Amino acid sequence: MKKITTYWIAAALLGALPAARAQDTPPDADPAAFSACLNQLKATPAFSAITPATFARATEALAPDPSVLVLLNRQPEFTLPVWDYLAVLVDAERVADGRAAFARWQPELQRIEQQTGVAANVIVGVWGVESNFGQNLGGRPLVQSLATLSCFGRRQAYFRGEFAAALRILQEGHVAPEKLTGSWAGAFGQTQFMPSTFFRSAVDFDGDGRRDIVDSVPDALASTARFLQNAGWRRGEPWGVEVRLPAGYDTSGAGRKARQPIDAWRRAGLTLASGAPLPDTLPSAGLLVPARGGPAFLVGRNFDALYSYNASENYALAIAQLSNLVGGSGTSVAFATPWPTDDPGLSRAENRALQTLLIARGHDIGSADGMIGARTREAIKAEQQRLGLKADGRAGQKLLGALRVQ
Ligand code: CA
Repeated sequence: MKKITTYWIAAALLGALPAARAQDTPPDADPAAFSACLNQLKATPAFSAITPATFARATEALAPDPSVLVLLNRQPEFTLPVWDYLAVLVDAERVADGRAAFARWQPELQRIEQQTGVAANVIVGVWGVESNFGQNLGGRPLVQSLATLSCFGRRQAYFRGEFAAALRILQEGHVAPEKLTGSWAGAFGQTQFMPSTFFRSAVDFDGDGRRDIVDSVPDALASTARFLQNAGWRRGEPWGVEVRLPAGYDTSGAGRKARQPIDAWRRAGLTLASGAPLPDTLPSAGLLVPARGGPAFLVGRNFDALYSYNASENYALAIAQLSNLVGGSGTSVAFATPWPTDDPGLSRAENRALQTLLIARGHDIGSADGMIGARTREAIKAEQQRLGLKADGRAGQKLLGALRVQ
């Protein structure tokens, strides 16, 4: 199963998830059933590599955490347009932070690139989208979350494997127990690996004998590159390029997987967005059109490697775009072709500005933290109604502009 976590983090960030309510708490996460389940689990083959001492140390006095089951069952309230994701995940702030990180870790990044073939700016792009360069690692104790998900809810078989892998990380001493925290679904570290991913891809790059993707940035960056290498990354190839389509070009058969040799795309009349010829460095590619009438991209095998990080084309595109900006010198976060909307999404700074305006108008939404939660969305709806806009609770430029002039 692909990692499901970052999608949820960003969906929550953008207010696409409903708020948790008290009555959502599943009734069956009771402590007696939990401890019976753990007793049973430790004798199963999945846990054969875990010593009784490790298991006991990690689970003694452990209580289930029903809040992760609520999160497991939440569904997005609406589908966010791709430009809303990109506005938050690739804003000027993240580009500036990414360039600073790129400069600071340059010697390590260059060595990692030499060893794996994965471009340094791409590694930084993953880091920025996954944890905001280590600033958002997630604070939930992994063992508690994964033990709960192993015993209750609808994906127990999957989570049991992750739980066992988390215990093995502790048993082998890669990460200190109090540092093993992450998202509700068990992704952890600088680039949010699942525990099973850790054993496929984590690397001890700084040579201290531990693969510490939480506290060692070099370990985390090298592990990210190894992940992409394992996912088929090809040295020297770009993830893709933004292209200009010939007038009237039919994109109905387009898709990331409908790959053709680059010459076939040239013959069909596609060029770079600038009008320059398509590069030879991208030997074959598929045509990705995230929104009809918006920017179009030819994406190659390396885009698939980015996709495997999160199983979302929007996410892969966010990493790809952030990588380009981190590795380049341009200041605009926009593609050459604008998105087909008259109401673009907001950056994190603009989200904070919007929240400040909502608070000034008397809405009780907590602090202006840039996270569009349920209360912010309710306030947005109220203001949209008052202003005669479509009351969908979405944070966009139109609403921000309307509130700013008042
Ligand atoms: Ca290490």
